Amino acid sequence: MIHTDQRNFAPGQPARAGPPLHSLIESPGLFAISPGRSKPLAASHGLSEPLRVSDIRQYVYCPRIVYFNYVIPVPRVTTVKMEEGLKSHAEFSELESRRTLAKYGLEDGTREFRVQLESRRLGIAGRLDLLITTASNVYPVEFKDTRGDPGLHHKYQLVAYAMMTEEARGKPAKAGFIYVIPKKKIFKVTVDETARVFTRKIISAMVNIIRTGIMPQRTRWGGRCRDCEFRNYCRDA
Ligand code: SF4
Repeated sequence: MIHTDQRNFAPGQPARAGPPLHSLIESPGLFAISPGRSKPLAASHGLSEPLRVSDIRQYVYCPRIVYFNYVIPVPRVTTVKMEEGLKSHAEFSELESRRTLAKYGLEDGTREFRVQLESRRLGIAGRLDLLITTASNVYPVEFKDTRGDPGLHHKYQLVAYAMMTEEARGKPAKAGFIYVIPKKKIFKVTVDETARVFTRKIISAMVNIIRTGIMPQRTRWGGRCRDCEFRNYCRDA
């Protein structure tokens, strides 16, 4: 589990006014956060549509992706790799529906696949890969066709889903799981107050980019630019 802090992060301020959120995300363990301080976003965060939960993953990966998706939308290309990823996702969901919950450390529970969720409170919407519901809890599960272990971008996408499933089902979501398909490995993610506060701040930061139209700083991890579909639009990448 990786913890991060937003001490220098100011929701509602232009992204270039202070240290970029992603620089803090990419420097885990530097600070300690004070939980429980941020207010939930209003149902209307001023945007005409809810943001996508996948935007949270992309923002944490590189804030500029949100800029290119919303502020100056650029042509998108569906690559063979993306198509293969979708196919493997669908095939894995089919297989997973026939397996037990033991590998999640759960004895029983109901499973729902491809659950459409929307939170007016958070102003986000998305489709969760799997929702496990037990007598007392809900557990969101995301399937990832990634080569390495899950990163913070996967974590905060899952935390957002946990908050949405709580709201939708009225049961606590204290944890969720990321299933890395190629490795057949499950990673448990604790959904604590720190992670919830941070997730709300990410949403606020994305809304801020869209409202102000200011291009945020690029990710400081240059390796991420190598295969990025927006590389041609980032002159400093
Ligand atoms: S090329 Fe690099 S800086 Fe530009 S959007 Fe992609 S990851 Fe971000």
